[in-house]
Amino acid sequence: MSTQFSQLSDHIFVHHDAINVGILRDGNRALLIDCGDGSVCSTLDALGITAVDTVLFTHHHRDQASGIGIVASADTRIGVPAQERRWFESVETFWNDPQMRWHLYNYHPHNLMLAESVPVTAAYAEGDAIQWGNAKIRVVDTPGHTDGSVSYTVEVNGRCFAFCGDLIYDAGQIWELYSLQKEDETTDYHGFLGDRGRLTHSLKKLQQRFPEILIPSHGKIMRDPNGAIDALLSRLDVCYDKYVAISALRYYFPKLFTEFEGSAGHMPIREGKEVPEFLRHYGTTWLIISENREAFVMDCGSPGILKQIQRLKTEGEISDVTEFWITHYHDDHVNAIPEFQDSFPCTTRADSVVADIVENPRGFRLPCISPAVARVDHRTQDGDSWTWNEFKMTAYHFPGQTYYHGGLLVEGRGVRLFFAGDSFTMSGIDDYCSGNRNLLGEGVGYDRCLAWMAELSPTHIFNCHVPCAFTFMDEEICQMRTNLAERERLYADLFPWDHPNYGMDEQWVRPYPYEQDVAAGETVTLRVCFTNHSSAARIASCRPILPESWEVDIPERSATIPPKQEGHIVLSIPIPTHINGAQRTVIPLNVTYDGRPLGQFREAIFVFSSNV
Ligand SMILES: [Zn+2]
Ligand SMILES: [Zn+2]
Repeated sequence: MSTQFSQLSDHIFVHHDAINVGILRDGNRALLIDCGDGSVCSTLDALGITAVDTVLFTHHHRDQASGIGIVASADTRIGVPAQERRWFESVETFWNDPQMRWHLYNYHPHNLMLAESVPVTAAYAEGDAIQWGNAKIRVVDTPGHTDGSVSYTVEVNGRCFAFCGDLIYDAGQIWELYSLQKEDETTDYHGFLGDRGRLTHSLKKLQQRFPEILIPSHGKIMRDPNGAIDALLSRLDVCYDKYVAISALRYYFPKLFTEFEGSAGHMPIREGKEVPEFLRHYGTTWLIISENREAFVMDCGSPGILKQIQRLKTEGEISDVTEFWITHYHDDHVNAIPEFQDSFPCTTRADSVVADIVENPRGFRLPCISPAVARVDHRTQDGDSWTWNEFKMTAYHFPGQTYYHGGLLVEGRGVRLFFAGDSFTMSGIDDYCSGNRNLLGEGVGYDRCLAWMAELSPTHIFNCHVPCAFTFMDEEICQMRTNLAERERLYADLFPWDHPNYGMDEQWVRPYPYEQDVAAGETVTLRVCFTNHSSAARIASCRPILPESWEVDIPERSATIPPKQEGHIVLSIPIPTHINGAQRTVIPLNVTYDGRPLGQFREAIFVFSSNV
């Protein structure tokens, strides 16, 4: 635990743990801005502070607030952003609401929720002012990192300091990018970097307050706030332009991107191509009809699809469904698979990475996730081939639209069809939801998918949402790969990490299973997976934070994660025999990576099926 702190003026200090904690001192009492994990107490001791009078929070995240029980006494006033009040004092409504668990399309609210509620004394919004000692604190609404984030400017002795939460990390940098996954014009799901408009507005508002020093939650104390903010805004513009240049979304919503028409480096949108007569398309499902009238079906997102397939059978167009392929885990592709498998008991195949989720969706927390459980009879590995009637089928792990995605090459009748799930449209790649894990780097993510397209050169590419076929020319594949390589370099500048994937991929630390059934008296196994995106080995450490009433303390465990690989730490968690745990218990995971404390960075859910 760090005891480091910085002094900004006679009475203003910043304690550094996983976040920066602002300390205003007045004699032996203090007002804190955010409280981190509670290690600020060592700095308070060093400063001779004996009472924490007030804690003000910039936003509701667990890394800001997890230490409140250590820092606050019964007399401490706790002030929070008005818009986020419920995410302090009634977090149980988040953890117990199935709508906050399944079919997730956005960051309203954000995932990094407190495990337990915190009592709130006051809620603050734009224009509120708090006189504390000789300091005047003003509240500025600064949404962006979260919907209800506020900043606090502190004016004392003619100087102005701004505590801005996670709006900015350092000059030209932000802590992570996935929190900005929001959108006004379509849905949040399509909103990669969609909140940069609100973020820009918030940062400009702060510039207008002319703070001398800007103090972020995560990051470095900035002594040139104007320059730091301008550098971030111009970098975000460049990053967004690189995103639009090859975005699949331009095909679905061309009007959204008219301002980019003709921009340098933007890939022209391809024309569609006629679909071979032996294919059918319903909803997100593609269906292949063999010469012997057997059907091969891909995905089943809704009961309406089942009706269509039944109709084909009744009308004699198909004899039966004999094989089923699952492209990826998204709800619009899997919601009706249980009914489908009941109605058409055929062989189901999926890439092993996809099978992991669809067989046990509770093990994951990801965008568009469905609670529907599918049966997978054959888990495919990259390059596995088999014969289905007159066709040769070859399966690929295809980490395009999501990491958990398969691709299927179908060769026969003089064509080479590639079913790419949702990964491409005629205008490029589908990476508009950052929670899907679109990793940057050579040989991973879309670079890997595009390398397959170059090597396999299918005669037709299919997307589950696009009614026609299409192809890419070699120069287009090359343009997309070049764009991704440029992004890897440009986005690296945006984050305080040695690879941009740490800032892009929320799941680089991922407990597995995310959610599991447990019982009093048993020892639960929880694997915490780390994706090391760096080019050198990294040491990861993790400690579960168990409910106090359990009286169980698990020591921190560490592992060395090889470069560019996933590794994990296995935690064994004994559950006391005589507890009356809440039905769903949140287990925050305290994480340190490469020497950097990350606080309660992730969580797992234990579900007590029957209380003892
Ligand atoms: Zn935050
Ligand atoms: Zn889809």
